[in-house]
Amino acid sequence: MTVTLSLARMLRNSLLLAASLALGAAAWADAPLPKKHVIVASHKLATDAGLEMLRKGGSAVDAAIAAQMVMGLVEPQSSGIGGGTFLVHWNAKKKKLETYDGRETAPKSVTPNLFLGTDGKPLGYIEAVVGGRSVGVPGTIAVLALAHKEQGRLPWADLFAPAIALAENGFPVSPRLARAIDRDPALAWIPEAAAYFRPNDKPLREGDIVKNAAYAETLREIAANGAEAFYRGRIAEAIVRAVTNSPRGPVAFTPDDMAGYTAKKRAPLCGTYRVYRICGMGPPSSGGVTALQILKMMERFNVGRLKPASPQALHLFAEAQRLAFADRAVYLGDPDFVPVPLPGMIGPAYLSGRSKLISMQSVMDRMKIEAGKPKGADLTLRHLAAPDHARPGTAHVSVIDAAGNALAMTTTVEGGFGSHLMAAGFILNNQLTDFSFEPRKDNRRLANAPDAGKRPLSSMTPTIVFDRQGKVVAVIGSPGGWRIIPYVTKTLIGLLDWNMDMGAAIDQPNVTARSGPTELESGRTPEATVAGLKALGHEVSLTEPTSGVSGLNGIRVTKNGFDAAADPRREGAVGGD
Ligand code: GLU
Repeated sequence: MTVTLSLARMLRNSLLLAASLALGAAAWADAPLPKKHVIVASHKLATDAGLEMLRKGGSAVDAAIAAQMVMGLVEPQSSGIGGGTFLVHWNAKKKKLETYDGRETAPKSVTPNLFLGTDGKPLGYIEAVVGGRSVGVPGTIAVLALAHKEQGRLPWADLFAPAIALAENGFPVSPRLARAIDRDPALAWIPEAAAYFRPNDKPLREGDIVKNAAYAETLREIAANGAEAFYRGRIAEAIVRAVTNSPRGPVAFTPDDMAGYTAKKRAPLCGTYRVYRICGMGPPSSGGVTALQILKMMERFNVGRLKPASPQALHLFAEAQRLAFADRAVYLGDPDFVPVPLPGMIGPAYLSGRSKLISMQSVMDRMKIEAGKPKGADLTLRHLAAPDHARPGTAHVSVIDAAGNALAMTTTVEGGFGSHLMAAGFILNNQLTDFSFEPRKDNRRLANAPDAGKRPLSSMTPTIVFDRQGKVVAVIGSPGGWRIIPYVTKTLIGLLDWNMDMGAAIDQPNVTARSGPTELESGRTPEATVAGLKALGHEVSLTEPTSGVSGLNGIRVTKNGFDAAADPRREGAVGGD
């Protein structure tokens, strides 16, 4: 890994990057909508790589793989091959929706006490995150290989070429990556991460040109030999070594854990909202279930008649979120380990009962909100309030290819820079801190407690929307931890209830509510709405405009072509023809 810090070159490149971003945005606004194919990824260089594959006749999955390989290089704080991924895929020819689970898995040595300290108390968050204890067996390569086998069109090896070239020739550090490095003291604690992100003990800066020869070599091996090259042999050994020898305590993570990883096909989770069919990822993600619950509880209020960003609309939205998150905290976990009462949780009768708890006149007492009792629920499970740490991990890619295949892929190393460990040129995830830190509460089981071979509960919400005829209407998803679910739901309401275009739907103020105050995005939420929500009894927290961590990347299908947009709060970009 090398960093070239020639000042002249650095300046030229950052100017070039700024110019191309500005041109890109302006040119995009005036251009006719793409009609053939389109991709929205979390960084311009990743979008370019995906578009290159689409232009070669590649499928949506081909484009997403090429984009992912670049994202792992240029946005390593968010996603990469050391992390996990969920894919929702619509095969236009077969008229078949499929969902792919590439979630990280706990190694065999993990027990429910994973995050308890020697004193029996839960570890502090950073203590748990940084180092080997939080690392799950990465699933991204396995799930992409499985999706490629079933939905790919171009040769697997070709999909790696753009990322290999960028890793060898260098890429400019983006403003967001520079900020993430600058704000992360823990990068200095891990020698490999420090050497790469803080050469000569100075954080990389915007516009610096970075090469990553180790990542290029890793990608070459995976390109040549497939997923096997990742899960067995040199790369697997490098991962095992990094985790077991972690400077922050030895952890048992073995070559068998790597070799035993399997990506899984899961049944898609679909439900109706008004005339639309909303489909997404079921457990081990909570995204699909919780988003559907929120929408279904709002449906009877005829949201289309409320005004966007009005106190009434946001009140209703926040109340529905609180009820859905109360269910999530009790009943959701890895379905291979806990029985998840899915049909009950999204059943119309159940949700209409829950919806009746919402009043348009005043706020519920949030301290008293409890999970409901959906059919099939294990009522012995206990609720545990999840910790709340907004760190800028995760990214989303939406694609529609020339054959009409649609793909929503959300991908993550969990928090910014994952565990901060690096192996073979890439960051290793900290996904296991998505488990609850306590194994039991009041001597009762927790659905999302750690266990060997278990997958931690996610909030990722890759989503495809269909109309009554079964045609794709929209593809959407976002990063943002638990807030992903309201970010995506907000966008769906904008698109489906208020007929917004994709850019406007994404631009709407983010409003998030779980067990704490109602969080409003400052700068985007009208002052009268803040006052109106307070009058309805909401305790309001106004988050800084830049701390909103949504990165909604979506596509809306229109008569005139694909209306695609990337969230201005992050660095995503649209590409299409
Ligand atoms: N690890 C989180 C999840 O899978 C996502 C984290 C983020 O979006 O920053 O739900």
